[in-house]
Amino acid sequence: VTTALEGLKARMQDVLSLRAASNLMGWDQQTMMPRGGAEARARHLETLAKFAHVHFVDAETARLLEKAAAETSSLPATHDDACLVRVTQRDYNLACKVPADFVAELTRLTALAHEVWAKARAENNFADFAPTLAKIMALKQQEAQYLGYSDHIYDALLDTYEPDVKTADVTAMFDTLKVDLIPLVRAISARADSVSAVPLHQPFDEAKQKAFAEMVIGHYGFDFSRGRQDRAVHPFCQSFSQSDVRITTRYDANWLSPAFFGTLHETGHAMYEQGSAPEIDAHGLGGGASLGVHESQSRLWENVVGRGRAFWQHFYPQLQATFPEQLGKVDLDNFYRAINKVAPSFIRVEADEVTYNLHIIIRFELERDLLAGKMPIGNLRDAWNAKYQEYLGIVPPTDTLGVLQDIHWSAGLVGYFPTYSMGNLLSVQLFNKAVAAHPSITTELAEGKFATLRQWMHENLYRHGRKFTPKQLISNATGEAMQSRDYMAYLKAKYSAIYGL
Ligand code: ZN
Repeated sequence: VTTALEGLKARMQDVLSLRAASNLMGWDQQTMMPRGGAEARARHLETLAKFAHVHFVDAETARLLEKAAAETSSLPATHDDACLVRVTQRDYNLACKVPADFVAELTRLTALAHEVWAKARAENNFADFAPTLAKIMALKQQEAQYLGYSDHIYDALLDTYEPDVKTADVTAMFDTLKVDLIPLVRAISARADSVSAVPLHQPFDEAKQKAFAEMVIGHYGFDFSRGRQDRAVHPFCQSFSQSDVRITTRYDANWLSPAFFGTLHETGHAMYEQGSAPEIDAHGLGGGASLGVHESQSRLWENVVGRGRAFWQHFYPQLQATFPEQLGKVDLDNFYRAINKVAPSFIRVEADEVTYNLHIIIRFELERDLLAGKMPIGNLRDAWNAKYQEYLGIVPPTDTLGVLQDIHWSAGLVGYFPTYSMGNLLSVQLFNKAVAAHPSITTELAEGKFATLRQWMHENLYRHGRKFTPKQLISNATGEAMQSRDYMAYLKAKYSAIYGL
């Protein structure tokens, strides 16, 4: 006898396979595909997205969900199967609001837009990308109408990345952060000369950069038998299942930081994906609870661990041995200060921890206004530059260093940016909880040992995949809701010590 639950699992396997195929094509487009393949690739992606959507929203899925809900009604709410029915029902309700033709059109447009954006970025010309971005923004407005919202149009899209979080919550979070962040940035700026990042700006052989970073992430726990690293224009992590998780990076031959810390960042995402329990991963519950929770892991392994003093106590001698000419005469303290230098900068992914959230606030305010129709695309570059002047006191000299730097809008990812700041808050909140449970973590980090910390994250986050809502998961893991208290205390303590405030 086949149960409806089994039928549902089989159906989800089909949907997941179609999605995996399109994800693989998307990964390939950003890593391997010759530029000439763009148009055909957009058609292939369009077809796969349409088939996956149509198969998922089919009435048969609704019938299986209803019967499976009855079959699992006596199970505890935390049981894998009960979670599968609950989460799939939520996904189903959302997916049914959006017509298949619309999904196909958005998929085709964003696949083509990737090439338009990459070319405009390379050629430093926002005007070449603006018409495409206008089309994408119009579709995202349409999508928000399909999904529905009661307060702000931005709510509809935000909810697809961070369930149950509203635009008003994001505004409140940033208002709270600004109160502490802006004075901290000012106090540091007054002592800007006390930290030098010069040692990081020297020629560093790319093959050695790669080997060192891959050695480190092996110690973190990235499983190379279920993952790999390649190059891309914009670093990202893409998973096809918990047993095949790809990360990408980009190298700067004259700057040590971007590839190294970018690799640690994507590894945080990857370990979360690799950590999903195989039995839930197979039916669509693998991956992260939300983008904010996902980002907590990338920021934790990149910053809280990877830019920490304890980490470098262990790894710095090895880095010096890798680059003796460049770093042989730079001591640990000066290197630690260099990698944590705070300075207003143009590129978000290369920003220090203190100014990083200001980059996010800028993007949030811009995309919120674009989506609400309060700003035409034609004004975007000027608005971008004005906000950099307002928040960071600098104006990007080129579009490549300004409005064209991020891949997100070209990919239709509107409403995504605030999850980066949520990730920052959660990274410290979760780390503190792990250390409270296992005080030995602090000394282990200085010995290059990460198992206790990773195991705590695995127990509390990774293995659960998407089983629980982000609010449930964070509350279960830390005993409270997301808060900014721990994060701001961490920033103030760390940077007061570095800058002698
Ligand atoms: Zn990330």
